[in-house]
Amino acid sequence: MATPSPSAPSLPWLDQTARHLYPNYRQPPIVMQRGQGSVLWDMNGNRYLDLVAGIAVATLGHAHPKLVSAIAEQAGRILQVSNHFYNEPNLRLAAELTEWTGYDRAFFCNSGTEAVEAALKLARRHFTAQGQSERYRVLAFDGSFHGRTMGALAATGQSKYRDGFGPLVGVTHLPYGDLAAVESNLKTDVCAVILEPVLGEGGVIPAPPGFISGVRAACDRCQALLVADEVQTGVGRTGRIFGMDHYQVRADVVALAKGLGGGVPIGAVLCDESLAGALPPGSHGTTFGGNALASAAALAVLSVIRSEHLVEAAASKGALLAELLGGLKERHPTRVAGVRGLGLLQALVLAEGIDPTTILGYARNAGVLLTAAGKSALRFSPALTVTPEELREGVNVLDRVLGENA
Ligand SMILES: *Cc1c(COP(=O)(O)O)cnc(C)c1O
Repeated sequence: MATPSPSAPSLPWLDQTARHLYPNYRQPPIVMQRGQGSVLWDMNGNRYLDLVAGIAVATLGHAHPKLVSAIAEQAGRILQVSNHFYNEPNLRLAAELTEWTGYDRAFFCNSGTEAVEAALKLARRHFTAQGQSERYRVLAFDGSFHGRTMGALAATGQSKYRDGFGPLVGVTHLPYGDLAAVESNLKTDVCAVILEPVLGEGGVIPAPPGFISGVRAACDRCQALLVADEVQTGVGRTGRIFGMDHYQVRADVVALAKGLGGGVPIGAVLCDESLAGALPPGSHGTTFGGNALASAAALAVLSVIRSEHLVEAAASKGALLAELLGGLKERHPTRVAGVRGLGLLQALVLAEGIDPTTILGYARNAGVLLTAAGKSALRFSPALTVTPEELREGVNVLDRVLGENA
């Protein structure tokens, strides 16, 4: 494999062109050009093993033929008609997604943050519609990430995302895993508790045993809604359809996005019939939500996930990945503090004093793409179609990187 290096020929036009982008991201001087499965090539012809998958987005890997043809065929028919009419792929997607997940209703939007916004608006309006307008408060957790729009940002429990954007109101943050704190804060002014079954951006931290079922019971006692933010953990990523399934808990409302469209922007909120009246016509919507193109893409993703048993595959390949990462911990005991995650959402937790971003850079130069999550975790969120050989290749490269650089 062509190993990229920091001295790879730079693209002469890149600095000039990138100057016109709003500088809210920190990007290395790499322009990705094409992908195939779990491999990406940049404009210099360097090959990368992509264990990021667009941050848990490219469920089927890059350029999956069934996704490509579904998108192309739909683009040749109709892209978007607004929500003044039905469109066929969206109707089929709603039917397929609800049948697969066991919920009754699906609302479609375009991103994770929009799915969270919709879920929180649904929770508030559910109670105001019953004359309980004092029931507006949301409980969320430290270390959580729910998105960047104002409502989702208010729910996000990390100062690095929140600082400078206040006031962000209406949400109380509690320590993740602290059931007693939930029980004492869950009063009749609370409309919803929102949680990630695995803190994703927060560092790939699965909920501790008993926590989620305890929150479910507390919500039931107080009649508050339990909202699962499955934007990162949903659609089979953890080896179950939902991350919540690992805890045998069913949320009242589920927010989905990232992996649902396999790379085409789409978000969804799922709920049961009992909540179908919370957002009546006119109360919420989005111009692009449920558009035919994104719906066709999501239909193709679901169809491949189901016909190729990719949820089960995520469980078995996730177990392999966890085992391989466990080997890294054994070989680099001073550099690796641990391994955690569920299914194909795994993290190698680095020892204190080792900066994940630095290791990430070395891994990238050696041709393997990963992301950092939280303060000390290297996150693996590969395509559900990743092969065991590719997982081995990625972990072997990381083994070398840790040996040489940490
Ligand atoms: C990524 C993410 C979001 C936000 O999704 P966007 O599509 O970036 O708006 C929300 N919640 C969780 C758990 C996420 O991982």
